[in-house]
Amino acid sequence: LHDRDGKIWMDGELVDWRDAKIHVLTHTLHYGCGAFEGVRAYDTVNGTAIFRLQEHTERLFNSAKILRMKIPFSQEQVNQAQREVVKANGLKSAYLRPLIWIGSEKLGVSPKGNQVHLMVAAWSWGAYLGEDGMKRGIRVKTSSYTRHHVNITMTQAKTVSNYTNSILANMEATDDGYDEALLLDAAGFVSEGAGENLFVIKNGVVYTPDLSAGALNGITRNTIFAICQDLGLKLVEKRITRDEVYICDEAFFTGTAAEVTPIRELDRVEIGSGSRGPITEKIQSAFFDIVNGRNPKYAEWLTAV
Ligand code: PMP
Repeated sequence: LHDRDGKIWMDGELVDWRDAKIHVLTHTLHYGCGAFEGVRAYDTVNGTAIFRLQEHTERLFNSAKILRMKIPFSQEQVNQAQREVVKANGLKSAYLRPLIWIGSEKLGVSPKGNQVHLMVAAWSWGAYLGEDGMKRGIRVKTSSYTRHHVNITMTQAKTVSNYTNSILANMEATDDGYDEALLLDAAGFVSEGAGENLFVIKNGVVYTPDLSAGALNGITRNTIFAICQDLGLKLVEKRITRDEVYICDEAFFTGTAAEVTPIRELDRVEIGSGSRGPITEKIQSAFFDIVNGRNPKYAEWLTAV
């Protein structure tokens, strides 16, 4: 990924892709205090546009606030940086990665006095869990790793260090031949995937874990809430057990990268008919209508680049 042509926005300017470098004594590299976003731009019917740009930028600033980091740019500048990066790389659709980190002035646990940096990169990225998974559903394994407790590194911040947990869970699941991991919270209730929120459907009602289970407050999750309302589907946020997932009719993951990915199996237990469910398909198709600019009701969620 690092050795290619292109531009990356770094601390206020576009730099050559290969020159977007940091020092090995970067504080965040040692102690993991940093935060990032995952954002997508779609090749919509009205041209390239970034989906829910402001919400992603707000979450980045909230992550910074939670981590006591001060971003040396305004939200408007960060929005503008994201538009610029997509344009500068000539991308029609893209995955965007804004990241904030603490600089290399000094080490030691306290980052006080170190500079906070910001970069935004963008590149093409297709279906995160595979095209086939989008149609047929993916196979998921309950992780032996527990999702972060809400009072450790903070679960509403999209913290760099939180992803060690996601990496371990994802590697375990994929080494065992599954596509993705499902993590339970410290009390044993369903939390979320390694990089996705979870939804299950039972008797026509859509359920998702409430945020006390330590799941990230996903922007796609919130988009699904709007879609459920439009489709007349009842949506309930509640505690969900692992076996409730086994006996549900349909299940799917959501995320900026994963979009809406059906789940066909958990721990070798087939979910529903063992393929993408009919309600999931409706929600998925409504989602792609929105992000591709085919639903005028949500035009304000798309920012032209
Ligand atoms: N949970 C985790 C752990 C994630 O990494 C992501 C991806 N950002 C999500 C949930 C989904 O969030 P969003 O829909 O905002 O991308």
